[in-house]
Amino acid sequence: EGFTSTDVGAVVSEVLGLLEASMPGNIKVRSTIAGGLARVQADPTQLHQVVMNLCTNAFHALRETGGTIGMRVDQALLDDEAAGMLGLIPGDYVRLSIEDDGPGIPQDIVDKIFDPFFSTKDKTEGTGLGLAVVHGIVRSHRGGLRVLGREGGGTVFEVYLPRGDEAE
Ligand code: ADP
Ligand code: MG
Repeated sequence: EGFTSTDVGAVVSEVLGLLEASMPGNIKVRSTIAGGLARVQADPTQLHQVVMNLCTNAFHALRETGGTIGMRVDQALLDDEAAGMLGLIPGDYVRLSIEDDGPGIPQDIVDKIFDPFFSTKDKTEGTGLGLAVVHGIVRSHRGGLRVLGREGGGTVFEVYLPRGDEAE
């Protein structure tokens, strides 16, 4: 259903290319993209949306203070325990991480951030749909995601998508 073999790193590079022009000077973006093996069966447009929504949130988190957005694409072999925590089956995954060194997500709202229309932002800049959309897209790709507090402050979102470049 519209899924093709998609290079996650290429999607990330594309989004970074689009965002670079509008990034203020006090926000740095670093990316580490593992070459070659990060292919998944995906709808590239939807994957683009996932990266864009997570980057937009990282950008908002840093807008006041400046800081660094880190993007990484690599592989992860999930064993029973690691997969179980993500609601996934064990196996080979492509992991996309997007982190920022902004203020982080307060403990008392972290359970709500994936709810549609939950937002702490002004109506003009957030509808509260970004993460709900991310969640829906990731699940429809048989993937999983989680959010972690970053050591020393900030936020990490990790998206796991099953690896595979076989034709459907
Ligand atoms: P919106 O961005 O429109 O508010 P989202 O669904 O994208 O909606 O995010 C929901 C909420 O999660 C945000 O309003 C914010 O409070 C929190 N959030 C998401 N990403 C981050 C981040 N990187 N740093 C801090 N808070 C975040
Ligand atoms: Mg958002």
